[in-house]
Amino acid sequence: MRILVIGGAGYVGSHTVRQLLRTGHDVFVYDNLSKGHRQSVKDAELIEGELADRQKLIRIFREREIEAVMHFAAFALVGESVAQPAIYYQNNVSATLELLEAMRAAQVWRIVFSSTTATYGQPERIPIAETTPQMPINPYGFTKLVIEHALSDYAQAYGFGCAALRYFNAAGASPDGDIGEDHDPESHLIPIVLQTALGQRERIGIFGNDYPTPDGTCIRDYIHVDDLADAHLKALDQLRPSSNLQLNLGTGQGQSVLSVIEACRKVTGHPIPTTVEARRPGDPAELVADSSLAKKVLGWEPQYPDIESIVETAWRWHSAHPRGYASQAAAAR
Ligand code: UDP
Repeated sequence: MRILVIGGAGYVGSHTVRQLLRTGHDVFVYDNLSKGHRQSVKDAELIEGELADRQKLIRIFREREIEAVMHFAAFALVGESVAQPAIYYQNNVSATLELLEAMRAAQVWRIVFSSTTATYGQPERIPIAETTPQMPINPYGFTKLVIEHALSDYAQAYGFGCAALRYFNAAGASPDGDIGEDHDPESHLIPIVLQTALGQRERIGIFGNDYPTPDGTCIRDYIHVDDLADAHLKALDQLRPSSNLQLNLGTGQGQSVLSVIEACRKVTGHPIPTTVEARRPGDPAELVADSSLAKKVLGWEPQYPDIESIVETAWRWHSAHPRGYASQAAAAR
């Protein structure tokens, strides 16, 4: 299929692009490179552009005869969304609505959309199934939920075939160590812990140890980025006119911040000093997926079910590229 991957130079997008190419799809990456990395797009055409540029998207859809869209381009930091909601509503909602209108104009009806566990807020019952009420507790979660609603309305009214994939915590890297996670500034737990193991930081700050969890630190469900990518390919196969899939993607294993740090100590052999800091605004105590629906509907099964195997792939990437993609750019010069 001919697929436009919006945000294909980003973390989850770049891993998905690779899998799409490997399975024989024609892949075009559309990215404004504000967060993404040119070096992560190796074998697909990279088109630089803005998500909000409806006319440009319409042109690309027509000229490249695009049949499906995967939409990864979003701001995705809970804390930042609390501090700067405007950019979240602009990019994640307003610009995405331009994309949907471009698709409608060019009669592209298939879309796989990156949604998030943050649409659930802090549910009363864990694990979280798709039937759990969606009540976000931060602007990031709200922006993703708005688009989920837009997609189901577009499916019903305009015949779009949509899949909203609700990621839990994306983690890890391509097992060959070639592409991986690189945010600037980095704010995600595993990369920061591994930067500490590399000696780039003195210690890792734990954001709160007084949550109502067994060790007092937040619990998350870390899912390997290649398992997320695989689910995108499988969801694409399922899209039919007027269909609307909404699926959780996680391993079902909850890991506390302390247990993630312990796994990183084991994998790296580094003591990884810690310090306890204040809670981060907007953080729910516990988010763990019930992904049985995705397994059933997609025939999907995570290939990295445990945290250590996920951290191993992340460590391969970070130790080979201690400055992320900047290391590769320097090596190429
Ligand atoms: N976290 C932490 N210290 C850090 C970064 C993150 O304690 O330096 C915690 C954070 O509070 C959350 C978990 O690690 O409970 C995962 O955070 P991350 O930012 O990786 O992903 P999120 O859950 O926000 O999507």
